[in-house]
Amino acid sequence: MARLVMKFGGTSVADIERIRNVARHVKREVDAGHEVAVVVSAMSGTTNRLVEWCREASALHDAREYDTVVASGEQVTSGLLAIALQAIGVAARSWQGWQLPIVTSEAHASARILDVNGDELVKRFLERKEVAVISGFQGVHSDTGRITTLGRGGSDTSAVAIAAALKADRCDIYTDVDGVYTTDPRVVPRARRLDRIAFEEMLELASLGAKVLQVRSVELGMVRQVRIFVRSSFDPPESIDPHKGTLICAEEDIVEQEVVTGIAFSKDEAQISIRNVQDKPGVAANIFGPLADANINVDMIVQNVSADGATTDLTFTVPAADFERAKDTISNARAQIGYARLDGATDVTKVSVIGVGMRSHAGVAARAFRSLAERGINIRAITTSEIKFSLLIDAAYTELAVRTLHSLYGLDKS
Ligand code: ASP
Ligand code: MG
Repeated sequence: MARLVMKFGGTSVADIERIRNVARHVKREVDAGHEVAVVVSAMSGTTNRLVEWCREASALHDAREYDTVVASGEQVTSGLLAIALQAIGVAARSWQGWQLPIVTSEAHASARILDVNGDELVKRFLERKEVAVISGFQGVHSDTGRITTLGRGGSDTSAVAIAAALKADRCDIYTDVDGVYTTDPRVVPRARRLDRIAFEEMLELASLGAKVLQVRSVELGMVRQVRIFVRSSFDPPESIDPHKGTLICAEEDIVEQEVVTGIAFSKDEAQISIRNVQDKPGVAANIFGPLADANINVDMIVQNVSADGATTDLTFTVPAADFERAKDTISNARAQIGYARLDGATDVTKVSVIGVGMRSHAGVAARAFRSLAERGINIRAITTSEIKFSLLIDAAYTELAVRTLHSLYGLDKS
């Protein structure tokens, strides 16, 4: 017997038929003798609609009332799933965040979970064999008693926090894909599903925009050592393959560690180059200070000597959505910075290669540079960290670059 948390996202509970399907997944685990807590998202599209209603009601609205509105989506699903479970003979009841309670900080719309009280759930597992169906995404602030939400995609984080509190053996995240892939299968048809991925690698992937899991849920899983298994709710409930999916786990639990685990890419980048900047102390501060004040996230930074040999060129990337604002910010600070010209490009892609094996292997990035050069792909900027390196290239070469690197590091499925 094991204790499981099963989390189902929006597409898995999109309508009553899908909710019945979820109930059958839950029944399978209950019939196998497991204690089960289920965490649900709102039905797909619901949260977007609720957010839109708040905006329509008033562009500037009270964040506490926003949370009251958007938390309602999950309340509906938890009740519906409890009904669907009871209808097939499984004892179940719904729980809202404030009822357990799931205590959070007061940061409305982006609250952090501080504590989960699972005592009553455990008691009911033992005494009544009752499944707990918990609304994800929401909690309550202890001092004010107001309903809070965790930020978009937050029900993943609810699930992991509940798994930690209940000391669950595993947290199964059911979604509309059957696991985490080496890269986007729509771009690289030979992408493979990973059997296992280390928390740190998944953290990088999620931060780079892989939408499988909310970044914070991975952080929490890493800190609290919750094994997270990503699998598909679209596989048949009664005969699902128990090994089909991706386990996110500690590095030590991965026996055959590859050097490279995955390749991510993002087209939502923009490049800014400032030409002929005076080469003297304080210049970088004059450039990046105003950008930070404007809340613009700078990612890759490259500095090199200008063509004239006396000044320097500074190139960096910002999110494409902040491109115009970043250029304006630099122009406005031109007097302090002192430069000749400002160039920019939005037709660029950041390709990132990730793997904990890079810590112990030299020359991993060098192979990429050679391989891309052979295909005539120019690299505009490079950044590296312990388990990742990122390259900025022309957007037109995205697919060629990702496919090339995917083969280079032996990720293609046979
Ligand atoms: N329903 C919320 C959202 O759409 C939370 C979640 O699905 O994880 O962001
Ligand atoms: Mg989600």
